[in-house]
Order: sequence, then structure tokens, then C-alpha cells
Amino acid sequence: MFPTAVRRAVRRWHRLYRETRLVALALKSPHHPVFAHAVVIRRCNLACTYCSEFDTTSKPVPIEEMLARIDQLAALGTTAVTLTGGETLLHPEVERVIARIRHHGMLAIMISNGYLLSVDRIKSLNRAGLDRLQISIDNLSPDNVSMKSLRVLDQKLRWLAQHAEFQVHIHSVVGAGTAKPADVLTIQRRAKELGLGSSAGIVHDPTGKMQQIDQESRDVLAAIERETKPLFNFARHNPWRKNLLEGKPNDWHCPAGGRHLYICEDGLVHYCMAQRGYPAKPLAEYTQEDIDREAKTPKSCAPYCTIFCVHRIALVDQIRTDPRKALATLFPGGEGGARPPLPVRMLTGLFAAEKPGGGIMRKAAMKVLGIQ
Ligand code: SF4
Ligand code: SF4
Repeated sequence: MFPTAVRRAVRRWHRLYRETRLVALALKSPHHPVFAHAVVIRRCNLACTYCSEFDTTSKPVPIEEMLARIDQLAALGTTAVTLTGGETLLHPEVERVIARIRHHGMLAIMISNGYLLSVDRIKSLNRAGLDRLQISIDNLSPDNVSMKSLRVLDQKLRWLAQHAEFQVHIHSVVGAGTAKPADVLTIQRRAKELGLGSSAGIVHDPTGKMQQIDQESRDVLAAIERETKPLFNFARHNPWRKNLLEGKPNDWHCPAGGRHLYICEDGLVHYCMAQRGYPAKPLAEYTQEDIDREAKTPKSCAPYCTIFCVHRIALVDQIRTDPRKALATLFPGGEGGARPPLPVRMLTGLFAAEKPGGGIMRKAAMKVLGIQ
């Protein structure tokens, strides 16, 4: 049996290969969902006051139904599935869902509040093939807004640092009204100390629109940005987030319903967690025609949208259609301007522009990445 460090290294490289393939596929074609969020259970064991995505009673989605939804997402060409809730670990067979995602070659990501993690559960998530776990932590000690607290979860983080073969990412919501916004800085530093990834998001209302945040929360976000590595980081280079923080709307096209799908516990497709009810068609009946139509449909909620995972897909699409403009937006040049990292420049060069007959390098890259 190989030691954990070796297994981790092998899995890290394999994941990097599959993530590169995901980006290359997204650059190559606009006709498939890049990311899907799928709810495995709506119930949660906590009750954060800023959250509109949980209840206290519902049962897990039956496993056969959940597996059929994963099969349908794979049939539509989806490249990554994030399992969400409620609290995902309340689903007794979530590992089978993860294994099914991996069986189809998709990236398997899961969001959890971490309360139910144990060493055994971490090992069973390893065996299932989980690629990434995102844990939300909002403060150091529980307050009346959130109980997702470092004091309660630190032991779980240490277990993850020791046993997880998947990537672990700590996410904090800034501006939610927690007693001490600056706690988020300590959480991010603790994540770094344990070798885990971290990020901070901005609180939004139930429709996805950014809520105004106080100066202390703005200062915290600025401090986090200063502490992140100077390399590429989407939160740092997201031009739309910068505008929102300045109270300005954004002019972008949201491709949700086509490039991003949100599947609720009833198996209906929605644009995203904040825009449930549109188009609200059963996933089992969702077709290529639905994907192409909804990806093109303008969304009136776009100007103040804070759903950054959909921003990310929109930017990839912009790189394909107008690479110069997209890269100039993402990496403004000039003195002190950021330069796109090498993998981004290579993928853009290879996949952004359709060359008649196809370039040799492009064909070779597609072969290496297993893309037809
Ligand atoms: S732990 Fe997550 S799902 Fe549960 S109430 Fe808090 S934010 Fe909502
Ligand atoms: S713009 Fe798109 S991602 Fe944002 S809230 Fe509206 S539908 Fe959701």
C-alpha cells in the first residue's frame, strides 16, 4: 500500500490533467454544460441566517433517482458536478453519487459545512473518488448569524489535512453580518497553515444580487486580496467582482441554463441557486435544444449578479469568441498589470481561434487530453 503522500501526489496530477481537459473542452465548444450543481438533500443540520437554501425536514433524494440524474448530466456532456444541499453529508449514500460522477469522467466536487466529518467519512470520500471538498467557515466562534465556526471545525480541518486525498477548500462569506468580519482573515491564515485552499465570497440576497457590505468587510476583502499569491486567482482577477464592490453594474452575458445548471431536489433544472423557477424543466427531459436556447437567453439579474462560478464560465466563453478582449479584461496590461499565467496563454492559443484545417499543435493537444 502506498503512503498517503504518494497517493495524494498521484491524484493531484491526475486532477490537474482532468481540470485542464475541462477548460480545453469549454474553450472548444459552447454546446455543453461546464458546471452543474445538484442538490442531494435540502435538509441542513445548521440554520445560518443569510441562507435561503435549506429546510429542516426533507428527506435525501432517493439514491436511484440521484444516480439517474448524474447519468443524464453525463449524457448532456457536463464536465463537472458539484453536490450541494442543505448539508450533503446528511445523505447516507453520497459516496455512491460521487463514484457515479467519477465513473462518467466528470469532476466530482462537494460542498459541506463539515460538522459530520470523521476520519472514517474522509477515508470513504477518498475511496469514492471525490476531487474537491469545499467547507464553509464564517467566524471563529458561533454567533447568531452562523455556527460555521473555526473553533468547532478546527479538529475536522486537521483530520482533512492528515487524511484527505482530495483537494480541500475553505470558503468564507464576507458581509453576512457576523459579529467580527475580521475573523475571516484568521480563517484564511489557518487554512494556509494546514496546506488547504481558501477563498472569500460576498453575501448576496436570495435573488443573487450583491448586498451592500460595510467598510470593515471591504477592508477584510482587500486584506485577503493582498495576502493571496501574485499568481492567477479568479477572485483576484474577476473584473466583475471589482465593479460590484464599487456599486457598479456589469455588462456581461450570463450563460446559465446552458453552460451552468442547477438541479434541485425535485430534479428540475434552474439557472442557478439564486434564480430557481427558470426554466424549471425536468432534467430527464432536458435536451440539447434547451441547453443552446437557455445559454443564449439574456438574464435581467445579470448586472448585479454575484454568482462567481457562472462569471467564470462566461469568461471562458468570451476567451473563445473574443480572446483579446477577454484577456485584456482579465489581465489589464501596462505597468504592474498582471500577465496571464502560462497554462491560460497556452490553452487560449490552442483552442480560442478555430483554424481552418486545425493546427498541428491543437490536434496534438486534443489527442493528449482525449478530446475528439
Ligand atoms: S450550513 Fe450551508 S446549507 Fe446549512 S444553513 Fe448554513 S449556509 Fe445554509
Ligand atoms: S445572472 Fe445568471 S448566475 Fe447570476 S443570478 Fe442571474 S441567472 Fe443566476
